Amino acid sequence: MTEDPKMPDFSAGAAYIDGRYMPIAEASVPVTHWGYRRSDVTYDVVGVWEGNFFRLDDHLTRFRASRAELHMAPKETDDDLRAILHRVVALSGLQSAYVSMECLRSVPLPGKPRHPAYVPAYTIVLAIPWVWVAPPEMIERGMHLMVSKTPRIPPQCVEPRAKNFHWGDLTRAQFEALEVEADFAILPDLAGNITEGPGFNVFSVTDGVVSTPIRGGLDGITRLSVMELCEEQGLKLEVREIPADEIRNADEIFTCTTAGGIMPASRIDGRILSNDRPGPISRLFLDRFWAKRAEGWHATPVDYSAAAE
Ligand code: PLP
Repeated sequence: MTEDPKMPDFSAGAAYIDGRYMPIAEASVPVTHWGYRRSDVTYDVVGVWEGNFFRLDDHLTRFRASRAELHMAPKETDDDLRAILHRVVALSGLQSAYVSMECLRSVPLPGKPRHPAYVPAYTIVLAIPWVWVAPPEMIERGMHLMVSKTPRIPPQCVEPRAKNFHWGDLTRAQFEALEVEADFAILPDLAGNITEGPGFNVFSVTDGVVSTPIRGGLDGITRLSVMELCEEQGLKLEVREIPADEIRNADEIFTCTTAGGIMPASRIDGRILSNDRPGPISRLFLDRFWAKRAEGWHATPVDYSAAAE
């Protein structure tokens, strides 16, 4: 609730759309815009936990690369975006938030060709209360995973490194998971190697060696953090192809994402891992991840005074 009745109420979240700030309930996209009609959009999600952005510059860098991949050139610079990100979080007053920066194409300009090169792209930034991809109870007991029959769309068709809304394969795989009463699907590529899941990257651990797929998924920022944890713990890391059959027989599996951190698995295709609980390395990473976050690891404090600007 805002105290001044004339002030908009940002307490459920705040958004910026192409130059204007508004409460989240007022933020919408015209149904004619290509961002909606064609999924012609890229985005990035940075987490705010207890008043701090995590790896803000890494997210800005990835977002810039994604926009370049999609030939989008909105008016905001990285410095503009940084200021907007602080402002939406400050307006919302949220201490822990899911903060998304998005770039989408609008509509063809009159008299111009109906080609994406001529359709202006614009920016949306929003802050809403923190989102868990897997609820904390599921993280504690371990996710129940399954390998879907639906393959992840190949990078030759849609580049997964540019974070996107082409979720048709991920959504279909989630219905496969539902059929076998698993929590989440992980998707193979067309050759049967694991790629990623709906909203997270995947790691396996066998004989103390940590492995993650080399291609077919997003270069996750949390994945990068796991790589740093491997170094900190002196654990060998392999970035390579991981066949579905190999992961089914792994000692441990864990997944990771901005909206949840490290998320261990305790089952894969019905097989029970580590006594049906997160395995020791997954547990260690989960604990280290949040302990380091509390100590200010890669943290940028939110400037809550930006609300007044
Ligand atoms: N893979 C997909 C498809 C995602 O949507 C996400 C994040 O939402 C991830 C992986 C994890 O990436 P990050 O750690 O940067 O959040």
